Amino acid sequence: MPRWPERGARPYDSGVQEPKRVAIVGAGPSGIFAAQALLAHPGIAIDLYDRLPTPFGLLRYGVAPDHTSVKGVGNALARVFESPAVRFLGHVEFGQDMSRKELLGAYDAVIYAAGAAEDTEMAVPGENLPGSESARSFVAWYSGHPDAAPFRFTGVRSVVTVGVGNVAVDVSRILCKTAADLSPTDMPDPVLDELRGHVVRDVWIVGRRGPQHASFTTPELREMLTLPHVQPVVHDDLDAIDLTTLDRRPKANVEALKIAAERLVPDASLRLHLLFWHRPIEVEGRHRVTGLTLERTALDADGRLIGTGEERTIECELVLRAIGYRGRALDGVPFDEKRGVIPNVLGRVTDTRGRVQPREYAAGWIKRGPTGVIGTNKSDAAETVAALVADLPEAPLVVLEPVEKLLHRKGLRPTSYEDWMRIDAAEGELGSRFGRSRTKIASWPELLNIARGRGSDGTATPRER
Ligand SMILES: Cc1cc2nc3c(=O)[nH]c(=O)nc-3n(C[C@H](O)[C@H](O)[C@H](O)COP(=O)(O)OP(=O)(O)OC[C@H]3O[C@@H](n4cnc5c(N)ncnc54)[C@H](O)[C@@H]3O)c2cc1C
Repeated sequence: MPRWPERGARPYDSGVQEPKRVAIVGAGPSGIFAAQALLAHPGIAIDLYDRLPTPFGLLRYGVAPDHTSVKGVGNALARVFESPAVRFLGHVEFGQDMSRKELLGAYDAVIYAAGAAEDTEMAVPGENLPGSESARSFVAWYSGHPDAAPFRFTGVRSVVTVGVGNVAVDVSRILCKTAADLSPTDMPDPVLDELRGHVVRDVWIVGRRGPQHASFTTPELREMLTLPHVQPVVHDDLDAIDLTTLDRRPKANVEALKIAAERLVPDASLRLHLLFWHRPIEVEGRHRVTGLTLERTALDADGRLIGTGEERTIECELVLRAIGYRGRALDGVPFDEKRGVIPNVLGRVTDTRGRVQPREYAAGWIKRGPTGVIGTNKSDAAETVAALVADLPEAPLVVLEPVEKLLHRKGLRPTSYEDWMRIDAAEGELGSRFGRSRTKIASWPELLNIARGRGSDGTATPRER
């Protein structure tokens, strides 16, 4: 059981009788930033829950494995767990293992920081055919998420990614890179093996608006467009865009695309197509994907996007939709289905009619939607914590059930931060055998066996406590 000061033991220089207890649901960047902000206020004991046995959320399971400098943010976040006021309780799923009522019965306040675990659908016929997948599931697979289903590239020669944000750039770049490029990353071995064998020759990125409207950031776009052995093919007339009317980022993006359009890569083994002003209207195929039909788009006189009726079909064996992540409702917690977030005012959870729910807060992607960079979650969490701390003196007095009693009653054996460090060490050791700094372990049983100190070949089952 992770360490935690007993109620009444006055472990912090709090000046109050007993520490206030705060539970955070989700130990991704937002949850950890929220814990960090809470640490600035003495007398608060913090429990960070996650359904996974590992902390760090999308920093571990989303940020691209070849972007190692971003991964370094984890070192700064890890320091939060060094505080005796913070406990990590992994492998506890809100909704399944612990209800809203139980959590509110054991804590003075609860912060929901569960991220965005769903994705936006294209809502076109054929979307559910095998071979039509979300970029989210592809990312989860190459990042070694233990829930991810394996991807198979047998027979895949052409891939269409729908969406023009950084996730589309990430997944396309991973497909454009060679196994040699990717082998220094922490990708699990089976992922590397599968990518090593792929014979993809065409990767398409399709956007429904123009290049000047795309949301990818310029350094990421440039990186993708200048990959060795990759021939960029820009299918739009970039000269028709008036650069003088554009803000800095869209202008830089269009300029990067113009340079790429001029680039000739004689030894290219793969073509990277960029096609704007097209939207998907049907995923083709009988038993699995054989193509994606698109309709040309334009803006009407009022600036609204309209279909022109002009269609074309791109032959492909894999469609990846990368048109946005979405929050998933947490059992019993108010949820705005339209926006995919927990309704809130400055982080205070409200019901759908705007009434504040005492002692409940939200932070990060589940609070504001999937926007911004990791650092955006820091100010976002600080806003939530400011509201929580301001409310604490006014909070209704509740008799709390000791957390240990609750966990015991429910038969839960959370993994601790020390357990995560065992996983961390095991992944480092696995990587070092093949000259890599880390190789991710992607199976539930292995992760839990290592966390429980049993070695990866123990007998634990995924839900063993
Ligand atoms: C593909 C991709 C690449 C990205 N690359 C970058 C990048 O290069 N640079 C950058 O700055 N930002 C990047 N981001 C954005 C960054 O990852 C997010 O800003 C950040 O992770 C959001 O933090 P969060 O804590 O709100 O959500 P998450 O990181 O998703 O964390 C939520 C946590 O809650 C847990 N959880 C969910 N449901 C439950 C439950 N019911 N019970 C208990 N726990 C639960 C999850 O397991 C997870 O650990 C990227 C995002 C994606 C999707």
